[in-house]
Amino acid sequence: MEKKEQLYEGKAKKVYATENPELYIVSYKDDATAFNGLKKGTIAGKGVINNKMSNLLMQKLEKSGIPTHYVEELNDRETVVKKVSIVPLEVIIRNIAAGSFSKRYGVEEGVVFDEPTFEVSYKNDDLGDPLMNESHAIAMKLATKEEIETIKKYSLKINEELKAFWKECGVILVDFKLEFGKLSDGTIVLADEISPDTCRLWDSETKEKLDKDRFRRDMGGVEDAYAEIMKRLTDNI
Ligand code: ADP
Ligand code: UDP
Repeated sequence: MEKKEQLYEGKAKKVYATENPELYIVSYKDDATAFNGLKKGTIAGKGVINNKMSNLLMQKLEKSGIPTHYVEELNDRETVVKKVSIVPLEVIIRNIAAGSFSKRYGVEEGVVFDEPTFEVSYKNDDLGDPLMNESHAIAMKLATKEEIETIKKYSLKINEELKAFWKECGVILVDFKLEFGKLSDGTIVLADEISPDTCRLWDSETKEKLDKDRFRRDMGGVEDAYAEIMKRLTDNI
């Protein structure tokens, strides 16, 4: 499988057409951004780690019945995925208060929820990905009621699977962002990536941050944290 024309360059990945109209190739970059692109930088080796981690986790999720866009890893940074029409919603699942939740509601980071929360934001960089409720998403025809129900069911199942897996790795899954897309026949599948860019991952014992918050908050040790989380994953998968 070979790359044809570049269709899109995002903040973390490039997307290419292939000779098969149903397949794309995504290429993971080391570029990192935060705060809606305001903060920019590089995390050396991130693209390789995110590519491999996302692929391993998506293959694991497929085995537990979650359909994903994953097709085949081509090399360190490139993967063949099923082409989808992205549902323009960023789905966020939280097990523990952190980040924008803590800020918005004045809740201390680290407060553990009895049940995971499910929220959606409108995926629109110009508007800064505003939080919305499900009826707003339906009113704006971003997805149907049935599609949102499917997305919610999959997201909560993904949370259970990933929480249990990361626990075996000595890692707490605090929160994460998912994107879903529609295949040409309308089937909803998990798309985009699952990586330390899109999840908050804390060491179970020390609560040390092993994710992109080290970059967002200028904590240092960013590359080491990505390498450590990848090692935990490959040792346990
Ligand atoms: P951003 O667009 O937020 O800067 P990226 O740099 O990660 O993000 O770019 C990847 C883009 O590709 C995202 O817009 C994402 O929604 C989209 N995407 C991810 N998986 C697929 C897929 N299977 N088919 C089509 N588009 C996808
Ligand atoms: N997240 C993401 N992309 C975004 C916004 C959030 O991957 O555009 C992830 C983020 O890494 C975290 C979770 O979603 O794991 C919740 O993020 P939050 O809403 O707390 O926002 P942030 O603190 O990143 O602004």
